[in-house]
Amino acid sequence: MMDKTHKLCRGCNRTLSIDQFYPVRSRGPDAVRPKCSACCVKVVMASRSKRMDAYNMWQRNQHQKIKLNVLTHYSNGLLECACCGEREYAFLTLDHIHGGGNKHRKAMGSFFNVYRQLYKELCKGVRPEGFRVLCLNCNFAEGRGGCPHRLKREAMLQINLLVNSTLVE
Ligand SMILES: [Zn+2]
Ligand SMILES: [Zn+2]
Ligand SMILES: [Zn+2]
Repeated sequence: MMDKTHKLCRGCNRTLSIDQFYPVRSRGPDAVRPKCSACCVKVVMASRSKRMDAYNMWQRNQHQKIKLNVLTHYSNGLLECACCGEREYAFLTLDHIHGGGNKHRKAMGSFFNVYRQLYKELCKGVRPEGFRVLCLNCNFAEGRGGCPHRLKREAMLQINLLVNSTLVE
């Protein structure tokens, strides 16, 4: 049954035409790989995706390390929201004071790059100004008319001033 024009693939167990197999020149003019080309591609893809997984994991760890470092720095070691005191790390983010975030981000690229750039500066002993740590709620609200925590605090302060000045008179 088996002739020189066909071969059984050790990967998928199909008998396929010999031109479905990659040649192995070093083993002679007729030598081919034990697995068909489709199976060979599968093996290569699998090992590539395994390597990509390892690389992505490494990059995620790297990013986490950088983020932790930058957030610790800009919260003066407190790792809490400068507005409401939220301490859940997963909710904390870097805020560009006075809403320069988008402009700055565009100049520096992605948000990850902002962290990376700042990290580089901090390692050099330079502390770029204009950043603080906020929780996602406060950060979101500051970008849309102001955080209610802060607005309330400011309103209370104004009422206090008003009350005090009225009482003095
Ligand atoms: Zn095969
Ligand atoms: Zn907050
Ligand atoms: Zn707030």
